[in-house]
This record gives sequence, C-alpha cells and structure tokens, in this order.
Amino acid sequence: MINSIAQNLQFLTEKLSKTNTKLIAVTKTKPVETIMKAYEAGFKRYGENKVQELVEKYEALPKDIEWHMIGHLQTNKVKYIAPFVHFIHGVDSLKLLEEINKQALKSERIIPVFLQIYIAKEETKFGFSKEEIVELLASNQFKSLKNIVVVGLMGMASNTLDNEQVRSEFKNLKTFFETLKSTTFANDFKFTELSMGMSGDFEIAAEEGSTYARIGSAIFGERKYLN
Ligand SMILES: *Cc1c(COP(=O)(O)O)cnc(C)c1O
Repeated sequence: MINSIAQNLQFLTEKLSKTNTKLIAVTKTKPVETIMKAYEAGFKRYGENKVQELVEKYEALPKDIEWHMIGHLQTNKVKYIAPFVHFIHGVDSLKLLEEINKQALKSERIIPVFLQIYIAKEETKFGFSKEEIVELLASNQFKSLKNIVVVGLMGMASNTLDNEQVRSEFKNLKTFFETLKSTTFANDFKFTELSMGMSGDFEIAAEEGSTYARIGSAIFGERKYLN
C-alpha cells in the first residue's frame, strides 16, 4: 500500500512534469504516518480541506512541508493557519479576505490566496461569480488589503462523466483568468496561478492551463469517512 502511494506520486509527478501543472497531494482523512511515508519518498506539497486536521498535521510533520488550504474556510478559523499556510485556495468572500489580511498582518506575513470562482453547473459549490470578482477587485476595500496577494483563480468543474462539459468549464475559467490578467492585473507579475483539476479531471485541467492540480484519491485510494 505504502509502496503504491510512492509509485502513484512518482507517476503523477512525472506525468505532470510535461505540463505547467504542479501536483498538490490531498491528504484529508489520511493519517500522519501515510504522509510521512510520502514525505520520505521526497514529496513536500500537501493539501487539506479542514482547519483542525491541517493544524494537527502541520504540528506533527516536518516544517519544510508546503501546506495548501484547499477547502471552504470559515472566517473564525483563519487565525489557526495564518502563521504557516502556504496558499489558501478557496477564498469566496470579501469578509474572508479581510480576515486573512488581518491574521497575516499579525503573523507578519503576506499570504497568497486564490479567489474561488463558480464554474460548475451544480448549485452546491462555493465561489464568486465573474461579475463579483470584477467588482471585488475594483473596490477600495480590496485595494486596502496589503497582507494578501491574489495569485490567481481556483475552480471546480461539474462532477460529471461528460468530459466535454468539464473541458468547457475549465476553458471558461482560463479565459476569464487571462482577461483579468490583461486588464486588472496587467502590471502585476504575481497573478499567474490557476488551481483546477482533481483525481477525475486533472488531465483535462492540465491541458486547459492549470498550474496546480489538487489530487487525493488517485494517489491515496478512496477516502473512508468515519462520521
Ligand atoms: C478532496 C478535494 C480534492 C481532491 O479530490 P480527489 O477527487 O480525491 O482527487 C480537491 N479539491 C478539493 C477542494 C477537495 O476538497
């Protein structure tokens, strides 16, 4: 099992090395021992979607691990991850941005964030609409936030076997990203990242310009939830 995790990581890393997409190994529900084996195999970039689990794993594991917060983040929990989190992927409100900024300032850091945009057909996904992002980025409240940097956009495609649907959603996200880059962020070299792709659709995402794929079950197997 452990062997196959290292092999999966190596296989995916090699596959993605031919693209511009970096791999984030999503370790939610997986024990520290499993992550330690992957770490010993040389892999240092991990993603979690729950604050408590992320903090526990951060504390238990080597400090040169790059931790990505990928899930929905509640405002009152930002303070626990602000001192160490590498990137925050799912930012979906101004209120959350303001809190990240406040906690980043306390930690004397500048925290890189992705704005999550709603691209799927399903109703349940979190995220901004395009109009909301344009409005947000133009606002004075946003411009006053000096301890965050928006590095790019994050989006999740519909959970469907229809690959053309998935591809068109990723294309849509990429096009909007390029539009923002050439207008709003024209002079800002930091707006460079596109967080898209999971186990089921990372190949399509990579083809459509993803720079970070968040992959869990294709590396570690299916997740078992205890409650
Ligand atoms: C769990 C999760 C992933 C990884 O999902 P897999 O299908 O297991 O690859 C990616 N992104 C987010 C936001 C997640 O919560």
